[in-house]
Amino acid sequence: MLNRAELREIASMEGKESYFVSLYLNVDPMFNPKGDHMVHFKNMMKVSDTLDKAVYKKVKDDLDKIQNYVLSNKRMFKKGLALLSSSENSFWKEYNLGVPLKNGLFVDKSPYTKPLMDILDNYQRYAVLLVDKESARIFVIHLGEIVEYGEVHTVDVHGKHKKGGWFALSQNHYERHIDYHVSLHLKEVVEKLDSFLSGEYIGRLIIGGSDEAVSMIKGMLHKTVLDKVIGAAKVEMFAKSDEILSRVEPIVSAYEKKKEDETVDSLIAKALKNENAVLGLDNVIHTLQEQRVMKLIVLKDYKANGYNCSSCNFLSYQKTDLCPYCNGRMEGVDYLVDMAGEKAIQQGALIEVVSENKKLLDAGGIGAFLRF
Ligand SMILES: [Zn+2]
Repeated sequence: MLNRAELREIASMEGKESYFVSLYLNVDPMFNPKGDHMVHFKNMMKVSDTLDKAVYKKVKDDLDKIQNYVLSNKRMFKKGLALLSSSENSFWKEYNLGVPLKNGLFVDKSPYTKPLMDILDNYQRYAVLLVDKESARIFVIHLGEIVEYGEVHTVDVHGKHKKGGWFALSQNHYERHIDYHVSLHLKEVVEKLDSFLSGEYIGRLIIGGSDEAVSMIKGMLHKTVLDKVIGAAKVEMFAKSDEILSRVEPIVSAYEKKKEDETVDSLIAKALKNENAVLGLDNVIHTLQEQRVMKLIVLKDYKANGYNCSSCNFLSYQKTDLCPYCNGRMEGVDYLVDMAGEKAIQQGALIEVVSENKKLLDAGGIGAFLRF
């Protein structure tokens, strides 16, 4: 999973005389209806003609390694693949990502990490804090994956624990009297959580634990952190990652559904006012052709037929026999939406696939926020 600290470290790597090869490949099956990504990949790998001979010699091993990886790991591909390699520096990193990436092959004296940083900025990450009276665990959920980042274990200086567990103690007795060590522990948890969330720029938090633990820690969080909390779940302290993910998934889905609905509402409102937004496939294709799309919003499984220029890749929703740009022959295609998505990604636009939304369906199933 991507994390900012690691990416910062990679970005700062520099070869004095050596080189890094960075490959980005859009392998999203939704936007590669005919497996086009392998064609794009092979074309990108033909760098021997354009690279300086001495540089090519230095990165030949990296190119071979990348080639082997892509050819033999197809089953692992999700939507975006990023490979960073420098044999001279004994460096290799692979990322199989749940988002499509703009194709690119970069050969330089440092690894190219901007697309990965952009994913951290553009796709919400969720922290999960599991907490009880003496320990805490922190996880991050990003693009459907969960990773444990660390734990806090505050040692009781007296070396003994009260029987029955602190959170299980009778409400009356302990309501206003927080055990000293527990409060020390919770303070430590709050501090660690604060620095983790701000260091990684994580904007959303879910708290897991018993009801008592959750309300106790919430009472201690700073306002800025409390504002990030989108829900709480009952989770056992020593639950496995998969189990934690499935427990908090409904909270994440509900939050994302709400965000999607807000996005669609804003898209429709802006489009109606002609404020850098369009609705409907015809308009979307036009603005894509003009390279104006900033973010494409498309309903999942939305399909449409259209026309595609066999020589310059011009797209059209309306029937035309000849391409208005190059006079090439326009061919009928039944996956125009997929091709539009692929074009958007290659222009560096973001894509949001909306799972279900009546308003977007009524508005044509697709729309876009524009750069200008
Ligand atoms: Zn054409």
